[in-house]
Amino acid sequence: MSEKVKKTEAEWRAQLNPLQYAVTRQKATERPHTGIYDQEWRPGTYRCIGCGQELFESDAKFDAGCGWPSFMAPVSREAVATEVDSSHGMTRVEVLCSRCDAHLGHVFPDGPGPTGLRFCINSASLDLDPEKA
Ligand SMILES: [Zn+2]
Repeated sequence: MSEKVKKTEAEWRAQLNPLQYAVTRQKATERPHTGIYDQEWRPGTYRCIGCGQELFESDAKFDAGCGWPSFMAPVSREAVATEVDSSHGMTRVEVLCSRCDAHLGHVFPDGPGPTGLRFCINSASLDLDPEKA
């Protein structure tokens, strides 16, 4: 696994815009259907907004109709970390960047693909690197 990225809250604030900071460092959730990648279908690689680590491929993205970018699987098992999140009176599985601990979203067991998983991810935690044609 690659080396961890550690920054102070002030450094994150300087690097990220307010929405990106709220989502990745304070575990906020962007409002549904507002994220820049909800209806983004260009081929490419989605990287972590915090540290640039590759997280998801556009091939794994599907339209779950939930209002957030949804993926069947990350680029690799090592790219993301998961943690049980019992906030807001629900038990969900939180998805984090394994390198900088950015909050990405949650994973649900109702995906359409072979994994059966739906990674429901905030656009604000991602940075699409479009594939060069
Ligand atoms: Zn990261």
